[in-house]
Amino acid sequence: MFIRSLAQRGFKKAAVGVSQSTLSIADFRSDTCTTPCDKMRDAMANAVVGDEVYGDDPTTNKLHRDMAELLGKEAALITTSGTQANLISMMLMNDKIGSAVVIGSNSHIMYYERGGMASIGGVFGYILPNLPDGTIDMDALKYHVPSPDNPHKVKITGISLESSQNNCGGRAIQPAYISEVKKYAKKNKVKLHLDGARAWNSALYHGLSMKEYVKDFDILNVCMSKGMGCPALSVIAGT
Ligand SMILES: *Cc1c(COP(=O)(O)O)cnc(C)c1O
Repeated sequence: MFIRSLAQRGFKKAAVGVSQSTLSIADFRSDTCTTPCDKMRDAMANAVVGDEVYGDDPTTNKLHRDMAELLGKEAALITTSGTQANLISMMLMNDKIGSAVVIGSNSHIMYYERGGMASIGGVFGYILPNLPDGTIDMDALKYHVPSPDNPHKVKITGISLESSQNNCGGRAIQPAYISEVKKYAKKNKVKLHLDGARAWNSALYHGLSMKEYVKDFDILNVCMSKGMGCPALSVIAGT
């Protein structure tokens, strides 16, 4: 099954010359590569539901509460995907149409989200270089933030980090670096966001609870579909 799915997805090399009987691989690229088991289907079919807009959906309410607590933030909100969660987060950091949020040159937002923050959100992605350890170069941040008081310049209202940093080999950015950026962002009245699609892994890597690892972020989003066993869904947390 797995080999067939690899071949269908174009991973021909991986599927060639390996007999199914000798191959035992668990596919952790994304939970979207797996299908729900009977227990998950049962849980979905039997979930107590209601109107979420009126706050009458007990299952959604519980997830919102549990996630806000787990991430140590005031509130949480389900979104259908990580891309949607990033887009909403970028828009929430925007003062007015024409503001900018700093994103890393190797970030998911930069590479894989069709520039939605600009085309849908009206937020300019101010791209600064990612270093190989997944951080955004602190010198570059200090050079470009805060925006000078000059009518030619776009106003930077937020900084977005990613951890683990997918395109930097899945690096779990250091808590000390996050604190340094937070201090600098706060001093300059700029919001700090984490694309924490796989932040669970980063927290575990650094031996911290999720709450501790994400404490410096004003807003963050996490994917339920990246190694958490859930086929869809992201959650935004913040004020
Ligand atoms: C997967 C991923 C996303 C997007 O999540 P989708 O649910 O696929 O839209 C965003 N950021 C990072 C770092 C990711 O790995």
